[in-house]
Amino acid sequence: MMNNNDILQGFLFENASIRGELVRLEESYQEIMRQHHYPLPIRQILGEMLIVASLLSASIKFKGRVTVQFQGKNHLKLLLAQCNHKLQIRGLAEWRQAFDETTLLAELKKGLLAIIMDPETGTGNRYQGIVNWQGDSLAESIEGYFKDSEQVPTRLWMAVDETRAAGLLIQAMPRESARLSKESARDDWEHISHLSATITAKELLSLDNVTLLQRLYAKEDVRLFKAQPVAFQCSCSLSRSENALRLLGRKEVDEELHNKQKIVVTCEFCSQEFIFDRVDVERIFKQDKPNSSHQVH
Ligand SMILES: [Zn+2]
Repeated sequence: MMNNNDILQGFLFENASIRGELVRLEESYQEIMRQHHYPLPIRQILGEMLIVASLLSASIKFKGRVTVQFQGKNHLKLLLAQCNHKLQIRGLAEWRQAFDETTLLAELKKGLLAIIMDPETGTGNRYQGIVNWQGDSLAESIEGYFKDSEQVPTRLWMAVDETRAAGLLIQAMPRESARLSKESARDDWEHISHLSATITAKELLSLDNVTLLQRLYAKEDVRLFKAQPVAFQCSCSLSRSENALRLLGRKEVDEELHNKQKIVVTCEFCSQEFIFDRVDVERIFKQDKPNSSHQVH
């Protein structure tokens, strides 16, 4: 059974070249937020980044993952939100001290925000696009990115509270040249944008998708596609942790064992701990060389 609180659902305007996506995260969002003790402003921005990663994954054509990444310099070092083609999401933040909204915004404006598309090994090239921070919100910055870098009109609304995160995206599709003039396509875009902008955070968080679309686009002919389940899933594993130990080298591992009797490899995303004792270490280093993946994740 799919839970209706963690879904990505696409829709289409039958009489305009515009598509849309709705995403809501509840259990997946809560699970990610439980993994670390994030201050409130970080929960907010990380929730938004998870929404963006999920929404963008809807339009990727390859098998792989979308990462929304922020690298800062001072109090906020890293924000990562990832969603793969199976709609498995995970997220992570690294920060130096508890801070308020103002500090967060100042940090965001100073850092580097990027959208990274990673096809699975052997299926294509990595793509990285830099997102310039615009205005006072992530939504505005992402809209600006699509306008400037992709020349695709895009609007985005997001809402996050303690237990849920939700987002609405609308995006212009390539115009079917014979059917639509440039002017009518622009008028359609203005019209649908205007209707969409009446959404409130409360509605976005609490209404189900059918009711929400009815509320926003009552007079429009909207085709709603099947909802796809979104879930938290981390890609860390026992074998990846073992690989990490092999790469660390026998000498370092033995020193650590000597000091602490056991070695703990903690996943920085989900905080899962993989614990190895002396017997495990013997077994790990008896096996073959580490395979090509050199990361724990
Ligand atoms: Zn993990």
